Amino acid sequence: MNSSPNKVIIDLSALRYNLLKIRELVGQGTRIMGIVKSDAYGHGLIPVARELEKLRIDSLGLNYLPEAIRLRGEGIETPVVILLGIYTPQDAKKVVDHNLIPVIYDLDSASMLSEEGKKSGRPINVYLKIDTGMGRLGVDFKETALFLKQLMKMKGVKIEGLFSHLSTADQEDTGFTETQIKNFKEVIAASRGIGLDLSMNNLANSAGIIRYRDAHFDLVRPGIMLYGGLPCPDFANPPPLRHLMTFCSSVLQVREVRHGTPISYGRTFYTDGSRKIAIVSAGYADGLNRSMSNKGMVLIHGQKARIIGRICMNLTIVDVTPIKGVNKGDRVYLLGKNKGNMITADDMASWANTISYEVLCSIGGRNRREYIHEEEVGQDS
Ligand SMILES: *Cc1c(COP(=O)(O)O)cnc(C)c1O
Repeated sequence: MNSSPNKVIIDLSALRYNLLKIRELVGQGTRIMGIVKSDAYGHGLIPVARELEKLRIDSLGLNYLPEAIRLRGEGIETPVVILLGIYTPQDAKKVVDHNLIPVIYDLDSASMLSEEGKKSGRPINVYLKIDTGMGRLGVDFKETALFLKQLMKMKGVKIEGLFSHLSTADQEDTGFTETQIKNFKEVIAASRGIGLDLSMNNLANSAGIIRYRDAHFDLVRPGIMLYGGLPCPDFANPPPLRHLMTFCSSVLQVREVRHGTPISYGRTFYTDGSRKIAIVSAGYADGLNRSMSNKGMVLIHGQKARIIGRICMNLTIVDVTPIKGVNKGDRVYLLGKNKGNMITADDMASWANTISYEVLCSIGGRNRREYIHEEEVGQDS
């Protein structure tokens, strides 16, 4: 963590609102696994998990065993799913000790878990990850029945549900997602065919939740929409969501510069006419994507100011000519709302040609975080 004056403010009350929107989309019968991997997308694993537990989320999903153990250490009792599974017999023991639910995708980790489950006298719940078209972790969907038969011979593990991931649910063309849904349905049918009646089958990420009712199955796995971000910056017709994260910095200096003044490294920007510029105390090492150089905006006194020249490691230059009374020490909003104007993670993502996920992880992970519970009234997005 750096020692800059910058800070990230996280409004935890927005989680309640976003979760409500998810519940509206999926209905009462569908369970919700809140995805809190990567330090809750940069928002802080423990405070976010604690809040989601208060909101009675059905389960939490994260990537690694140590994160799950941390949650237990903090007294969080909600079921926790380890999305990337476990690798060693010692891990399997910890799964039992902390009552966790690993995702499995090979027989190797299944047999480790089976051994521990048998020792402890209580079967370990697992999810089985199936590749229905993502081209990443999992058992090939065509081989699921075979895999399940082998798994069913193992004592000490109990399959909670089949688990798969969508690769293109945010894209306009629906064809491939429909194929994945169809593949997943076939896999479920195959599991029934060999006598398994699983009640926690799940496929949908945020984009799947919003766009494909058919992809909801028994349980959904929202990540980005919990945090108010969109699956991609140009995502069409998003539901109303609230952002949790605000990122503030401050003005270090205000200067009047002459026409034709080169700004920052590489002289990629020359002023047109005499301008008033402000030097802001944040840069790419603080999580601002350098691709926003000469593209992005910030808010000062509630007004938009253009980023000019290259973003530096800990400094950024903005043009404040049209904004009255900008002074050294003034607050700069790089992300979030300021006097009715707003810069979202999706705005930043489109300036930097990335996605809100990366913006939130970069900024949230590199700055001091402060937590608030803002009044829900007047918090429109
Ligand atoms: C990250 C992740 C999610 C959440 O995806 P979003 O697009 O953020 O909703 C769901 N499932 C798995 C397996 C993931 O890794």
